[in-house]
Amino acid sequence: MFKEVLDTLNKANSILILTHINPDGDALGSSVGFKLMLEKMGKRAVILLEKELPEMFLVFGDHFIWEDTDEEFDLVVALDCGDIKRLGDRAKYFKGNTMCIDHHVSNEAFADVNYIDKDAAATGEIIYDIIRYINIPVCPDMASKLYGAILTDTGAFMFSNTTKKTHIIAADLIEKGADFYNLNKKLHMEKDYKRHFISAKLIENMQFYEDGKICVCIIDNNMATELGIKDEDLNGIAHLPRSVIGVEAGILISEITLGMVKVSLRSDEIVDVSKVAGAFGGGGHIRAAGVRFRDKSTLDIKDSLITEIKKQLEVE
Ligand code: 5GP
Ligand code: MN
Repeated sequence: MFKEVLDTLNKANSILILTHINPDGDALGSSVGFKLMLEKMGKRAVILLEKELPEMFLVFGDHFIWEDTDEEFDLVVALDCGDIKRLGDRAKYFKGNTMCIDHHVSNEAFADVNYIDKDAAATGEIIYDIIRYINIPVCPDMASKLYGAILTDTGAFMFSNTTKKTHIIAADLIEKGADFYNLNKKLHMEKDYKRHFISAKLIENMQFYEDGKICVCIIDNNMATELGIKDEDLNGIAHLPRSVIGVEAGILISEITLGMVKVSLRSDEIVDVSKVAGAFGGGGHIRAAGVRFRDKSTLDIKDSLITEIKKQLEVE
């Protein structure tokens, strides 16, 4: 099943790895796992990000660069990225021989070689499968990074994308030396006070629609400025509106940069949020998706999203 991936990797000596903007634990962990695998195959591999990582992601180590580079690579691989636009400014490096390895339902196979497994809970699971297929030994560093990837995208093994296979992989990664307690603590259990405070503000101002089936949290630009909120402060907060009992669809709308509104959507059992995001040019997974809007008010965006979600609730 990975033959085309392996054949393509075998032909390349140097590989550039790119991932989505505002990378999360899966983007980072799967990229590092893949880089370490390539290095064990004797290749040069570089992970190029858009900017330096926030504090909470230092658990993924110093495997990244963020300065522009003019180095030539034989192959460019996009990981955990469902849409070329999600590479942000780094999309300019996505040229020549290209590959995409991903798990988003909305992925439209934008590379020369595409490996998309929509059933994988995380891109980290796919990288684990590739490592097993190529038969490369998993060292503790690789194990930790892949565990961190899976931990992030399954919400610490709680989201409905978690499978028996996810747990089997996680158990094997722990056996191979994954530093699971530290990863759980840094990526899941602990937040700095600022992020706890933002959560408190959001809880205080939650808005409910459709008999409590839709919950909306809004961080408008005033609030973002007042509290000094940065993109990275929103890591791990998007699940908050969905986590209220009775909520089927949770919406987090944030305007950190004036005129640039980011939306995170989460659902429980009914609403396919990748379709909701898709209606506005975004994408993601059935139960977790996102979309960005330019120059549209947060209130208009809220109304449009609720209208779209109601279409799916009404079918039920
Ligand atoms: P989050 O809400 O955590 O930013 O993203 C949830 C999921 O939706 C992730 O898998 C992410 O890759 C995807 N996603 C978030 N924002 C966008 C977007 O603007 N476009 C697309 N295509 N996917 C997105
Ligand atoms: Mn992912």
